[in-house]
Amino acid sequence: VSQAGRLAESFAADFVDALRRIAGARHVFTEPADMAGYLTDWTSQYSADAVAVVRPADAEQVSQIVKLCASAGISIVPQGGNTSLAGGGVPSKGVASIVLSLSRMQAIRHFDEAGRTVVAEAGVVLETLQSYVDERGLQFPLTFGAKGSCTLGGNLATNAGGSNVVRYGNTRELCLGLEAVLPDGSIFNGLTGLRKDNTGYDLKDLLIGSEGTLGIITAAVFKLYPKPLTRVTALLSMASVDAAIRALNLVQDRTGHSIEAFEYIPQPVLSAVEKAFPVLKSPLQGPVETGVLMEVGSSRLSDAKTDDDGFNQLVAELLSIFEELMESGDIRDAVIAQSEQQRADLWRMRELVLESIMAYGAAYHFDISLPLANVSWFLREMDLTAAELGFETLTIGHLGDGNLHYALVSADREAWHGLPLGEAKARAFELLKQLNGSFSAEHGIGQSKLDVMRALKQPAQLNAMRAIKRALDPDDMMNPGRLVPAAE
Ligand SMILES: Cc1cc2nc3c(=O)[nH]c(=O)nc-3n(C[C@H](O)[C@H](O)[C@H](O)COP(=O)(O)OP(=O)(O)OC[C@H]3O[C@@H](n4cnc5c(N)ncnc54)[C@H](O)[C@@H]3O)c2cc1C
Repeated sequence: VSQAGRLAESFAADFVDALRRIAGARHVFTEPADMAGYLTDWTSQYSADAVAVVRPADAEQVSQIVKLCASAGISIVPQGGNTSLAGGGVPSKGVASIVLSLSRMQAIRHFDEAGRTVVAEAGVVLETLQSYVDERGLQFPLTFGAKGSCTLGGNLATNAGGSNVVRYGNTRELCLGLEAVLPDGSIFNGLTGLRKDNTGYDLKDLLIGSEGTLGIITAAVFKLYPKPLTRVTALLSMASVDAAIRALNLVQDRTGHSIEAFEYIPQPVLSAVEKAFPVLKSPLQGPVETGVLMEVGSSRLSDAKTDDDGFNQLVAELLSIFEELMESGDIRDAVIAQSEQQRADLWRMRELVLESIMAYGAAYHFDISLPLANVSWFLREMDLTAAELGFETLTIGHLGDGNLHYALVSADREAWHGLPLGEAKARAFELLKQLNGSFSAEHGIGQSKLDVMRALKQPAQLNAMRAIKRALDPDDMMNPGRLVPAAE
């Protein structure tokens, strides 16, 4: 029996009819087959029923739906591309809710060449915005593996990070303003694109990273950047994580802070990708202690100028840095992409890591961050703990910003159930605490990390979050049971 079926029948029918009047009958689904894709998350770990799925066309319709749900006592789960890795965008079991999908709101409303900004609706797929901006000679730098299906609304709601944070910051730093519908149904329009606007509490920053618990983001204005005229993409085999961090800073110093991405990808992960996707082969001479996929970009004409050897200035500068680091022993092997195709192949290896780990066996994925100076300490200690408890590990990370996706794995899916995962998690979180790390770097809390949030977030912060939630959403209608753990 669907949730619509369980609610008092006439009440449910009236509610669904009202949704249809607002969004149009074609955009309200109640049949299990039509709703299925919206009710299970990307990891297949979270799944629950909904009264309906509704796809509004604009902020005005979203506002009417929010008011309708408030009067009917039905909660709202906003959803973009449904690529959340924290179970954030699908309903909770036993809670009467609708999924409000932003998938119809796909307009790119305005491109401001002078101000270098773009206004786009929440349902625009990240890759679509990247291409749109690229065709106009600029760059929207947010990027990561789910770019072909995640949406701008989801990126904002989770304050997504990805590979280019080391240079451009996370989604919060790329956003200049929002349009959103608040839990009382009012529409907040903050799309001026101003770079300076100190007029009190910043609602934009409150909504970014709020995972749908404080309102529904319907559009946003984003900063754009110059497109690099020249890029160097290199896969490096390095002596250690500390050697990689030395290289990071040296390249930043010598290139005017031009590293666009600095991704950690050690041998076990390269091997897992090669196993899952045999067409992809690491070009490095094997075994790689610390693999790094580094991309450096420059929009300076002088860097793109070719010298007598046929190399441009940026390539020449990097070759000289690599030579220096090879002499010191920090770099053991380096491969530089010679064509767009080679660059794409290197990035494909990086972007297929998550799928490769899932194919490898059972896994638990941490999404953590550490001060750079403590990364190797964490890896050393945690690898020992993991081995002692019987786990293998497959770890990648956005090393440039100290963000590790540390995975405890077992190729034997049966044996996995007998492994002491609870103890491994407790020891990892204790170590993180000692090393000033965060238990959630970029994927958000959703449903999957509520227990950790309750245990580890400082009480002063948790209490303030609960007070904000109560003030803006007193009836707990917006994505309940996510992000903010209930007080005990
Ligand atoms: C292969 C893969 C790689 C990934 N790599 C990264 C990575 O490198 N960095 C990173 O940060 N994340 C990564 N993610 C996680 C995920 O893709 C991002 O968090 C993404 O930003 C979610 O966007 P979405 O549109 O799919 O949101 P959804 O999954 O639909 O929703 C995510 C959360 O946001 C809320 N939400 C969605 N839209 C709105 C809206 N318009 N208004 C209010 N709330 C809303 C939902 O309720 C939910 O809580 C990855 C995921 C996959 C599958």
